[in-house]
Amino acid sequence: MTAPNDRIRRSLRQRLQSLQEAGVQQLPRTGGKLAPTSSLAPLAATQAVSADDRRPIPAGLVAEQPLIQAEMESSAAPVRSAAATLEVLQLEVAGCTRCVELARTRTQTVFGVGNPRARLCFMGEAPGADEDRLGEPFVGRAGQLLNKILEACRLRREDVYILNTLKCRPPGNRNPAPDEAANCRRFLDRQLELIEPEFICCLGAIAAQNLLATTESIGRLRGRVHAYGAFKVVCTYHPAYLLRNPSAKKQTWDDMKLLMREMGTPVD
Ligand code: SF4
Repeated sequence: MTAPNDRIRRSLRQRLQSLQEAGVQQLPRTGGKLAPTSSLAPLAATQAVSADDRRPIPAGLVAEQPLIQAEMESSAAPVRSAAATLEVLQLEVAGCTRCVELARTRTQTVFGVGNPRARLCFMGEAPGADEDRLGEPFVGRAGQLLNKILEACRLRREDVYILNTLKCRPPGNRNPAPDEAANCRRFLDRQLELIEPEFICCLGAIAAQNLLATTESIGRLRGRVHAYGAFKVVCTYHPAYLLRNPSAKKQTWDDMKLLMREMGTPVD
């Protein structure tokens, strides 16, 4: 596993480069909401001095120095860094218009919610009407069922991270198109890289097939542990499917027991 400070440094450098390409010239220090990009001041010229040791900082790192320094100041740096960098990413997602139809029809983007350093991420397919309206994933009837599933696993929403494959609602709740999933993949991968969960639980076929790059049915994917890079992945039915097909709840509960056993917190 990458050292936390190296990961923070790499993440911040990548994000800063991305924002600079988008015209953003400076970011505020962490610990609060991000300032609107219109109020951002120009970058310092070519050299800065570390507040800690007064040694010159290489010119190439000048731009990221305020952010890195802010992260190192806290003993909770990894958690705060993940949260801060997720906020930056969320800002980028909010301005994304790659999927022309989705950007035109959405009320807002739906980024994700929960513990920025969760051991477990739940991943659905895309926001529905309630999520689009409220800006949070899994808040409708399916979300209420997910809350009950979490409760049964002795988890709270704030213990885990909940996100979707797509950050914008497809009109009429249609399935995400392949090009839309491909467009949004970089955001998903970035979120997972920052949160660095040990486990991902894919809710439904769309999430599972997209993450694992497979066309296997959810019925065949569920019931076992998959690998996606360093992440362990368990797939189960989407709560919306369970609302329509309550008899499938038993299989989902079996999947959750498998997941909890893998996590070392069995519930059976
Ligand atoms: S779905 Fe993702 S890639 Fe497409 S417009 Fe929304 S944020 Fe951008």
